[in-house]
Amino acid sequence: MAGTLRKRALFIVNPNARSGRRPIAPVREMLESGGLTLVDAAPTDGETLSDVISRMRDACDLVIIGGGDGTLNSAAAGLVETGLPLGVLPLGTANDFARTIGIPADPHDAARLILSTEPQPIDLGEVNDHLFFNVASIGFSAELAGELTEKAKKRWGKLGYAIVAARLLARSRVFTAYVEHDGSVEEIRTMQVSVGNGRHYGGGMTVEHTATADDGRLDFYSLEVDHWWRLLALLPSLRKGTHGKWDDVRAFRTTEVIVKTSKPRAVNTDGDLTTWTPAHFRIREKAIRVFAPSNGNRDFGLIGNVRANAVS
Ligand SMILES: [Mg+2]
Repeated sequence: MAGTLRKRALFIVNPNARSGRRPIAPVREMLESGGLTLVDAAPTDGETLSDVISRMRDACDLVIIGGGDGTLNSAAAGLVETGLPLGVLPLGTANDFARTIGIPADPHDAARLILSTEPQPIDLGEVNDHLFFNVASIGFSAELAGELTEKAKKRWGKLGYAIVAARLLARSRVFTAYVEHDGSVEEIRTMQVSVGNGRHYGGGMTVEHTATADDGRLDFYSLEVDHWWRLLALLPSLRKGTHGKWDDVRAFRTTEVIVKTSKPRAVNTDGDLTTWTPAHFRIREKAIRVFAPSNGNRDFGLIGNVRANAVS
């Protein structure tokens, strides 16, 4: 790392992340021999990761977080407030944000990236003052998060999502929503509304195959299927992010959108239920800085993820 002074990195590993119990010592060693002084910190009672970051802001030059998308989400507000750059060690059940911005799945490769790159400006999404890295949704997947307990997540991993999803699919219902964006209001009948900041979410799903977390845009899509079994036909496209071409999917790209429903519905941000409709979504362009490959050079992370998937 450039400069003669050692940079101080606030080092936070979520012990409950799916891979958080894997020995972290070799990764620490790599970061320290690469020129960083690690400052350990953990939340005390009632603190969020954002609180820890705000409290420690003067004791560090960057923040390194080991965990998954949920862990990152709880640090978002603190990162925005302090402006400290973020290094990610993807140790969660779902590491979709890391994948979106090309951070390798292997923690050693991810650590090497923190030592060898400059932080890149990255957008966040916001809904009713709650920030999100990947996606916010209303309907089917919001219910999915509500049903998937921490215990089930750890025990079953990605399979847990599939089991709960199958159970929910069988009883999911279409609802009416009013969507305001770019000067228009549309009434829609939908099973799920999703607003994505980046490309990947939900442990292998894709918001839109060309979306990035630094394009200054939110990608909206709504599943307007009349039978739940249509979702099964759509599933391969939902994974690849090409569903916008289907007749029963409404998709557009914007910077701000408001979704209203007749009765309040829960909004899921990066896997947790955090707010209710009416939901006011906005892009927070270049809200944070993250150690990541520069825009044209993100295949690295994809290769890392493919390799990790092949091994597990
Ligand atoms: Mg985007």
